[in-house]
Amino acid sequence: MRAGCIHIGWFALSPLVCLEPQAAAAATNAVVMASATATITTDLYWGLGAGALVFAGLSWLIPGRKAWSLAAFHRKKVKNVVVGDDGERVAALASATFEAIMIHRDGIVVDGNPQLAKLLGRPLKDLPGTSIFDFLQNGPSIDVATVTTFNDDTIHELVLVASDGERIPVQARGRDIVYRGERVRVGCIVDLRDRKEAEQRIRHLAQHDFLTGLPNRALFAERVGELTERGASFAIAMVDIDRFKDVNDIHGHQAGDAVIRETAARLQRLLGPDDVVARLGGDEFAVILTSAHLNAQIEDFGHRLLRSMAEPIELVSGDIVLADVSIGGALCPEHADDLDGLVGRADIALFHAKQEGRGTSLVFKPGMNELIEKRRALEADLDLAILRGEFELYLQPRVDAATAEIVAYEALLRWHHPQRGLVPPGEFIPVAEASGQIVALGEWVIAEACRLSGGLEGRRISINLSPLQFRNSRFVSRLAETLKATGAEPSQIELEITESVLIDDDKRALQVLGDLKQMGFDVALDDFGTGYSSLSYLSRYPFDTIKIDRSFVSNLGVVDSAQVIVRSIIALGNGLGMRIVAEGVETIEEALFLTQAGCDELQGYLLGRPAPVSERLTEVRPAIAMQLNGMAEATRGSKNVRSGQMQEREAV
Ligand code: C2E
Ligand code: CA
Ligand code: CA
Repeated sequence: MRAGCIHIGWFALSPLVCLEPQAAAAATNAVVMASATATITTDLYWGLGAGALVFAGLSWLIPGRKAWSLAAFHRKKVKNVVVGDDGERVAALASATFEAIMIHRDGIVVDGNPQLAKLLGRPLKDLPGTSIFDFLQNGPSIDVATVTTFNDDTIHELVLVASDGERIPVQARGRDIVYRGERVRVGCIVDLRDRKEAEQRIRHLAQHDFLTGLPNRALFAERVGELTERGASFAIAMVDIDRFKDVNDIHGHQAGDAVIRETAARLQRLLGPDDVVARLGGDEFAVILTSAHLNAQIEDFGHRLLRSMAEPIELVSGDIVLADVSIGGALCPEHADDLDGLVGRADIALFHAKQEGRGTSLVFKPGMNELIEKRRALEADLDLAILRGEFELYLQPRVDAATAEIVAYEALLRWHHPQRGLVPPGEFIPVAEASGQIVALGEWVIAEACRLSGGLEGRRISINLSPLQFRNSRFVSRLAETLKATGAEPSQIELEITESVLIDDDKRALQVLGDLKQMGFDVALDDFGTGYSSLSYLSRYPFDTIKIDRSFVSNLGVVDSAQVIVRSIIALGNGLGMRIVAEGVETIEEALFLTQAGCDELQGYLLGRPAPVSERLTEVRPAIAMQLNGMAEATRGSKNVRSGQMQEREAV
């Protein structure tokens, strides 16, 4: 054996690793079979493994020459190639391999194996004499002509056009061989369709979310990257389901999944043809609005999404869930011109939307950042504040409209921040709600109010509850513990809740409200008239008190309809046997109108501002008390006259 000669053994296997698994298996078999009998020169061994052997087994034609067959080849005992007695077996390997193989000279096909014919969809006998350029086309990164110039083992992707016109991605490589002074070329072609399909499937899996089928974070980033690279003007919107954790906690994870899928579907329905919605994880979605160039266009998308999410979602269990979302948007290039910048800005807007309450959509504005920093700082301080005793309850009087006497106090939380001074609840309650600290803070408020309740000359105290506190599964039991520990009398305490508690989870809210009533508390519906304000809540829930929101009271002298609305709330509440409290009473005119309209209690700066317990008001200023008494008298009088007239009419 001369130096260039190798004996086919496992060495021949090493080039196979880059082949399709089936091809490699076939080639391995071929090697095993052939190694016993054949020794082939490096000229013939051209790195394709299976192809090397198959080459030896091909019956091939060289145009203008006599037909060659392997048998003839054997008989002639060609120099360098020593084939054993079973050359025919080796010839059979040509058709046994999974790869398509062809031999061409200067691009004109000399011969091929059945696999080539199959791939092309043409009979083998028709192939000799055709140009390889008739069925091979340039690949994604190289052209056919160039591939034919390489004489090494490099693999290139080309396109093979089958007789039916199908464009098949193939992997090709070739090598020149010299036979009897004649230079020809052997090419090996591997069908890449299966691999491409598998790659496509894997890529899809890697770039899409399993639950919704939407693009995932990676694909979202890729799409945004493509747009920013092009210098496109577009918008992104971050979308987050409000209080999604509650859906999971209350209705279970399957319900959570259903809500996510439904949200995904509704989002998709709102998109334009080039827009993209991705699920970033959990209850977070991101949208690319390719044709949005203005704040107003993001706002419009936000409104449409909020409207679509206002439709209840019906679960398989039959339960109904309302899944609001918060939306934060940012424009490219106005707010940022790269992925991180855009997502960061939209996230800031989203954070603000969350703070403003559920179901809000906001577009990024410069300056939003500092507000967030401030909130972060507050959040960090809140933890220590409870321990350090920086909180205090102020009391604001609630006044009986008929007698002008203080009958109750609303407990309003104040934070004495060591650096910032007195921080109003409007600033830190939303922060505590967002961070979950509200539960501990709320427990402190309840305990403090319970401790105060016995020492208020028989007056009741009302406590504000955050919806988050109310929804906490341990709320009722902790409340019972606090009552026991403080010895407070529940009939002296009123708990103020807002409508959002009822909307979030109707069934549970009814249950908790029932428990609270059972324990002996009064329950008030706070801020009535804001938010959803469905009058149907009033008949369905066992409220003792309705607190008419300040916005109606302050509009009494301004907007005509305010008087009508206030009168109807009072009539409705009275009809249901509920106590009506008007909040934010600042002028004597408001107080007199409300008294005359039948309001039971008044609360507002006119009657007394919130003050520390030791400085709390115990009586209303005499001038105001006198006017209220006068109005109450007159109202009673006119009522008596009216009822007297009615009696007379009935008597007649
Ligand atoms: P709210 O429950 O509606 O409380 C009434 C708010 O209106 C109080 O603001 C009170 O100071 C203010 N107010 C009372 N009368 C007048 C008036 O005549 N004119 C005007 N302009 N305002 C008046 P405050 O104390 O800043 O509390 C704001 C909100 O913070 C409260 O609104 C309540 O939602 C929340 N909050 C206060 N304390 C607590 C608490 O202990 N726990 C929880 N969860 N929330 C609290
Ligand atoms: Ca309140
Ligand atoms: Ca209120």
